[in-house]
Amino acid sequence: MNRREFLRKSAIAGTVLSAVPESTLSWQGAKKPKHVIILGAGFAGLAAGLKLTKAGIRVTILEARKRIGGRVFSFRPDQSSDNVIELGAEWVGASHTRMIELCKEFNLTLEDNRFETDLIRSGVHSKTGTWTFGPEMEIFWKDKVKIWESMTEKEKAKLDKTGLVEIFVQSRNTL
Ligand SMILES: Cc1cc2nc3c(=O)[nH]c(=O)nc-3n(C[C@H](O)[C@H](O)[C@H](O)COP(=O)(O)OP(=O)(O)OC[C@H]3O[C@@H](n4cnc5c(N)ncnc54)[C@H](O)[C@@H]3O)c2cc1C
Repeated sequence: MNRREFLRKSAIAGTVLSAVPESTLSWQGAKKPKHVIILGAGFAGLAAGLKLTKAGIRVTILEARKRIGGRVFSFRPDQSSDNVIELGAEWVGASHTRMIELCKEFNLTLEDNRFETDLIRSGVHSKTGTWTFGPEMEIFWKDKVKIWESMTEKEKAKLDKTGLVEIFVQSRNTL
């Protein structure tokens, strides 16, 4: 397969995967591929791999890093404990229909982790609506919103491609 053919076939696969639900996977007139190579084992690559595998297609996922998950990174500082620190994506919103579908498929329970929830702090349990952030935190959030609103779409896209790990590494290198 030459480069042009590879790009054409991967473009078709990309369009097909993002546009239609699994049950109606079709190849838009092209021949169903036997083997698909996916670049990146982030959630998009892994979800695409799952869809294709279910459609009976052989899949190879190539990942540049030493771990899978991409911008989702569940870090366990102590392997002997169940404590996990999420260093990337962790919230699934009501509009994230595909993620919700995947959670159902893998029997994963979504925890209600919105700010409109009970708070247990220093052993004190406060019911929803009875607690607020401290004044410093309110200022911190307002400042963040201001920065976000002043950013261009290009800057936002660049920020979205960054992970906390990269930010830690960058700040360590500049210290
Ligand atoms: C700190 C942070 C918090 C976030 N919080 C949320 C949240 O709460 N809820 C939410 O919905 N979204 C959140 N997001 C956004 C969410 O993480 C991303 O939208 C999502 O993970 C993107 O998945 P992806 O598979 O498209 O890309 P990625 O996760 O970026 O995966 C791409 C993968 O491809 C690999 N790769 C790249 N180039 C190559 C190559 N040439 N060859 C091989 N491999 C390659 C990369 O190493 C990576 O593993 C957050 C993002 C960050 C950074």
